[in-house]
Amino acid sequence: MNVVFLGPPGAGKGTQAARVSSCYGIPHIATGDMLREAIAAGTELGQLARSYVERGELVPDEVMLRLIEERLRNPDAEKGFLLDGFPRTLPQAEGLDALLDRMGRRLDVVVFFRVPTPTLLRRLGGRWICRARGHVYHEDHHPPKVPGRCDLDGSELYQRPDDRPEAVARRLEVYEQQTAPLLEYYRARGVFREVDGGAGIEEVTRAVCAILDTVGREGSR
Ligand code: AMP
Repeated sequence: MNVVFLGPPGAGKGTQAARVSSCYGIPHIATGDMLREAIAAGTELGQLARSYVERGELVPDEVMLRLIEERLRNPDAEKGFLLDGFPRTLPQAEGLDALLDRMGRRLDVVVFFRVPTPTLLRRLGGRWICRARGHVYHEDHHPPKVPGRCDLDGSELYQRPDDRPEAVARRLEVYEQQTAPLLEYYRARGVFREVDGGAGIEEVTRAVCAILDTVGREGSR
């Protein structure tokens, strides 16, 4: 099953992808995580991406398309994939279609997470991440037991530079300008589905699984 999770920053794509990808036996491919890892490791890609990511701007399409091609050609993506944070622009969506075409594959479903802007601002503003393994906490609805420490591995919690207010505002603007047009792109291709991403975590997971179950059944017919 080849799946894309689409939605604004803070919509919960990553949280839901981590919850559902293993149930369907497909890897969770988060381009934001890949870039943050490259930045932390100081690779050539990381050096190039750093200033874009920290300002909340998009990394150039050619760079992202090369990265995703390499990732999708990895054997673990043969049975399918769950893309989180890619594509984010029309050229990326077109590039993905062309790549899948060359691979003799196609997208099965694009799940859009609809979330009101005030909710996004609250979610992104209070988000803290663990240094060791990226576990996510939130000041209001999922605080750590010990302030500043991960419940699961005790490592330090930090705020992503792009979760600071100036960068958040820019990320939402970039989303509206460059990513929102993808809704129409995928609607026109008949693969578009939508969930209420403003609901609670469990409820959203149920809605996402209901969609993926249906798509999985159609695909196996
Ligand atoms: P995320 O973790 O998905 O919110 O991504 C964090 C940041 O990584 C974004 O604000 C961009 O700077 C960069 N990024 C992630 N995915 C993409 C993409 N598909 N195209 C361009 N930039 C991206």
